[in-house]
Parts: sequence; structure tokens; C-alpha cells
Amino acid sequence: MMLACQSVQVLRLIQLMGKQRKRSSLKNTGALLVLLWTEKGSSHQRLNCTVAAAGSWCFGIEMQTLQADLKKVLLPDVWPCPEPDPEELCAFTDLYGSLKFLLNFQMKNPGHYSSKWQAHVKAFLQTFGLTNAGIRIQLKFKIHGQKSQHDFSAFLISKVALSVQPPLILDVTCSAQPWCNQRGLWCQKGHPVVGERFPLGIPPKAMDQGLFGELSVQIVSLLSPCVLQYPHLPTELSRMQVLVFSPSNVPVSAPSGFFQALPVALDYQHLGLGRMHCCSSKASPDDPVHSDGVVFTVERENWDDPEREPSHLPVQQSLLVLLFLQHSDPFTSELTDKMDCELLLELHLEDILSNNRQAVTSALQAELFNTMKALKERKKARKTFFCINLTTLCKTTMLTRGK
Ligand SMILES: [Zn+2]
Repeated sequence: MMLACQSVQVLRLIQLMGKQRKRSSLKNTGALLVLLWTEKGSSHQRLNCTVAAAGSWCFGIEMQTLQADLKKVLLPDVWPCPEPDPEELCAFTDLYGSLKFLLNFQMKNPGHYSSKWQAHVKAFLQTFGLTNAGIRIQLKFKIHGQKSQHDFSAFLISKVALSVQPPLILDVTCSAQPWCNQRGLWCQKGHPVVGERFPLGIPPKAMDQGLFGELSVQIVSLLSPCVLQYPHLPTELSRMQVLVFSPSNVPVSAPSGFFQALPVALDYQHLGLGRMHCCSSKASPDDPVHSDGVVFTVERENWDDPEREPSHLPVQQSLLVLLFLQHSDPFTSELTDKMDCELLLELHLEDILSNNRQAVTSALQAELFNTMKALKERKKARKTFFCINLTTLCKTTMLTRGK
């Protein structure tokens, strides 16, 4: 996915620069425009990409000093390109203020501009927006006369403090539809939980190519929909989704080999959970939001009892597990070296996770265990609630009969 790669590189660069300036969480807001366009009458093989940013998340970026780094990062895959229609940029600056960053480049051979490719770019930016929720994202396609625009901005956000990097701004809007029609009454906000942080050994193959330093992973999880307001509703964990982010907080493809083998390694008896199946590691049309993640479904308990009323079916909950890779190497201070490290990390991710299989598996097992513990406590509380109610009911009946 050539084009996605180039835009990803630019995004990484902006993110890493922000980290270098140690931006505070308050400043991690603003807007991003990605415009993918072709010139009128141009050949089919030329696609232009404009990346523009406004707001405080890219405060202090000096385009002139950046040019050299950008060239190193992007060349030899891109050409300089003509300026986009000023109207496109005006529409963006009118909404989000003056541009702090602007880059135009042309892809030599971007491949197809199919709807599938467009969906991939869209899904990538949506996932980026999930963990960079302070940034409003605008994606525009203007390809051979066909225009489309997608705006991503979080409705509800939550700030998560982590040990090393600047606090995360997470999009915690829950779009899951509860089973009853009481939508407005439900808490639509997810409540992120900061999980384990553990070191990862770097495998020799990655070291040979120049990846050194300290590597670790921080887990953050989010269970949705939230049912805290309704302690007596039955619930059930039906799905788990894992997303991986690079140290610059840009989504990376989760290695399918490692995650496909995960369900075999889990201790279901200890978890008190039905068997899990890895069902996808690629984009699916009905779930484009987290396209680069891995989805696991849980075999259902026997809820298909025809006698059971639909209103008594448990609420299906989904656990989103975010894995944030963190890397530090005192010998890489240059921006371009950091970019190289990010690329090596992504390239060797399958190998890295496999090399640390036991640590990663037990961390995920612990994450699931904690989720299940909370579900079990709910179940217990519900049983007590029903017992008390039943006792009251019995007493009332007896009293009525006695009368
Ligand atoms: Zn809630």
C-alpha cells in the first residue's frame, strides 16, 4: 500500500517532532487534512497527496528545517507536485486556523484508486484518530473528477496518563447499540483501563538490522458498551479486538501469525470464558474503524434458549485492547533515525511478538481475566439481588394469602 505508506511516514514525522518538543497534553489538539487528488487531464499513474495540519499539536514545526528530513524520509518514492486548489486549503483553514504544516508530493506509482484502497486509507486515519482524539481529521478524495470527503472527530474523549509518553487522548465514544431502545439513557462513554506495561526482548534478526535499545509495550483496554449504570443487567463478553500502535502513536498492522495462534494459548477454564476464535486480521466492510486490528469472537454460552425472552438476553460486550509499543535508544536522537527504528519495529513485529510469546500471552490473559472478574462480580451481585427480590415476593405472597 504505497500511498498509505508515504502519508504514514509524514504523520509519524509530525508525531515524533511533537514528542521531541515534549508537548503537553493540552497542546495535543488541532486538525489534520489529507487530500488525495489528481490533476485535470493528468495520466492515471500520477496521484498527488497534500498533508496539512493546523492547531497546537504541530506547534513549533519549522517547515524549512524540516525539508531535509522529509526528503530523506520520503525519497526516492515521491516527486514534487503542483499546489492543490487553494479553495481546498481555505475551507480547512477557515475551520481550524492557519496552517502550521503543509506538504505536497506526488506518487510515482500509487497503484489503483479503487474503493477498497480508499476504504483502507479511511480506516487507517480513523484508527489514528482513535488514539489521537484531540485532532480533528479531514480526508478528501478528488480523483478523476470524483469527490468525496470524510470528517473524523471524537464525540467523547478521555485522557489517559501513561508512565512515559505524553498522556493519551482516547476517543471513547461508544457506538454500540444496546438491545433495548433506551439509547439516551445509556452511558455512551467508555472507561479506559491502564493495564500492564512489560519489556519486550529484541530478536537478533532485528538487532542485525539496527534495532537496539529498550522496547516495551503498554496495554490500555476499553470495555463497551458501558453497563455500570445498570448493575442488574446480564452481560457477556462476546468479542475482543487488538490494535497495535508504534511509539509515535500511529497504528501499525497487527501481525496475523502471532494473533492467530493466540486462542490456543489461552487458559479458558481459568478465565471462565468460552473458547475464542481469531476471525479477522484484515479490513472488513462492516467494521472499517479498526481495520488493522485483529478481532476475536467468543463462543457463546447457551443463550439461544427459545423460552428466554429477548429482553433477558445478555448485553454483548466487546473488549478493545490497545498495545502501545514504546522504544527508547540513547543512541538515536536524530528524527530520521527514530523513523528508521519505527520502520524496523513494524517490519519485525511478528518476530518480536513471537520471541516474547509467553510475556505477551500472559499479559493478554491477565487483561481478559480482569475483565471476566468484573463480569463475574456483576453476575454474583445480580443473583443476590434476585434472591432478595424473590424473598420479598414470597413474603408478600404469603401475606396476601394469609389475609
Ligand atoms: Zn459509563
